[in-house]
Amino acid sequence: MPESTNTAITAIARNTSGASIVLDRITKTYPNQSVSAVDNFSMTANPGELIMFVGPSGCGKTTTMKMINRIIEPTSGSISIDGRDILSLNANELRRHIGYVIQQIGLFPHMTIAENIAVVPRLLGWSKSKTADRVDELLATVQLDPGLFARRYPRQLSGGQQQRVGVARALAADPPVMLMDEPFGATDPITREKLQAEFLRLQATLGKTIIFVTHDFDEAVRLGDRIAVLSDQSQIEQFDTPAEILASPANEYVASFIGHGAAIKRLSLIPVTDAELGPVGDAAAGTVTVNADDTLRDALDALVLTGLRAIAVVADGRNVGSITVERISTVLGADSLDSVTVGRGASGPAGEVS
Ligand code: ADP
Repeated sequence: MPESTNTAITAIARNTSGASIVLDRITKTYPNQSVSAVDNFSMTANPGELIMFVGPSGCGKTTTMKMINRIIEPTSGSISIDGRDILSLNANELRRHIGYVIQQIGLFPHMTIAENIAVVPRLLGWSKSKTADRVDELLATVQLDPGLFARRYPRQLSGGQQQRVGVARALAADPPVMLMDEPFGATDPITREKLQAEFLRLQATLGKTIIFVTHDFDEAVRLGDRIAVLSDQSQIEQFDTPAEILASPANEYVASFIGHGAAIKRLSLIPVTDAELGPVGDAAAGTVTVNADDTLRDALDALVLTGLRAIAVVADGRNVGSITVERISTVLGADSLDSVTVGRGASGPAGEVS
C-alpha cells in the first residue's frame, strides 16, 4: 500500500541531519518553449553532502534546484528524499521541511528578525516558548546577538547580517535538506568570504544535505564536497570532488570554467602535511613559518612573499620539517612542465609557458 502523504513527510522531517536526494531523469519544459530548460537530469546526493551546481547563467541550475522543493514541477522524471517519492506529497507541507535560502534574502520587511525566523515553526504549530528558544539559538548560531537583533527589522541590518538571518530562517525547523540559490552572491567580497567560512563551520556540525547554486567556480571549490559543472539544459559535464575536477577536467568546457590558475586553486585544497617535508634544518630559524594544518597555497604564499628557499612547518609549536616550491610541485605531480601550457597561452603552441 502506498505510504500516506503525512507519514512520508513526518518521516522526512524526523531526519534532522542529512537525507539522500535522488533525481532520476528529470526534465522541465516551460510552457510554450520548444527547448527544455532541464533535459533528463539524474543525480544522487548522499546524506550530509554539500553539492554545488555551477554553470553559466541560463544553463538550468535554478530550475533543477527548484524542482526539489517543487517551486517548479518537473515535466517528467522522479525525485525522492530518503527514498520517498516527493512528487506524490503535498508540496506546501514538503516545503516546510526543506530549508531554502535565496540571493534576494526575501525577509519580510514588516516583520521583526525574530518573527521572520519563526515563520516555519509557526506554520508547524510550535509553541511560543519552543519557537522563542529556537529563534535565540539560531541567531546565536549565525553569530548575531539575540538581545541586539531579535526585535529589529530587516532594514536595520546590513546585507551580510540579513543574509545570516536568511540562513537562520531556513534552518528554523531543522530540515534535513537545504537548497541555496546564490545565497552570498549579492554581498561584497569580504563579507562573502566571511559568510562562506561561517557557513562551512556551521555545516561541519549540522551535516545537512545541501544543493547550492552558484556561477562562481571559486565558491564551488571552496564550499563543495562535490561539484556538478553544468552546461545548457542542465547537462552534467563533470560531477566530482573539487580536487578531482581541478586535477583532471573532463573536457574543454570544464577547463574553461576553471579558468586560470588551476594549480594554485588545487593547492588551496591540500594540507601542507600532504607534501613530503624536508629536514627541519633546511629552513632558516626564527623566520616566517607555516602551520601543519595550513594549505599548500598558504605555504606557497609565504615562500613567494619572503623569497626564502625553504620555510619551517610548525605543529603544536614545534618545527616538524620544511617546505619548498619543489616539494609543493611534487604533490601536484607537476614534475615536468614540458607538456604544460598555462595562463593565456592556453590556445598557443604546446610547451609555451606564458
Ligand atoms: P540558471 O539558474 O542556470 O541561470 P535557469 O534555470 O534560471 O538557469 O533557466 C534555464 C532556462 O530556462 C533559461 O533559458 C531560462 O530563460 C529559461 N526559463 C527560466 N524560467 C522560465 C520560465 N518561468 N518560463 C520560461 N522559461 C524559463
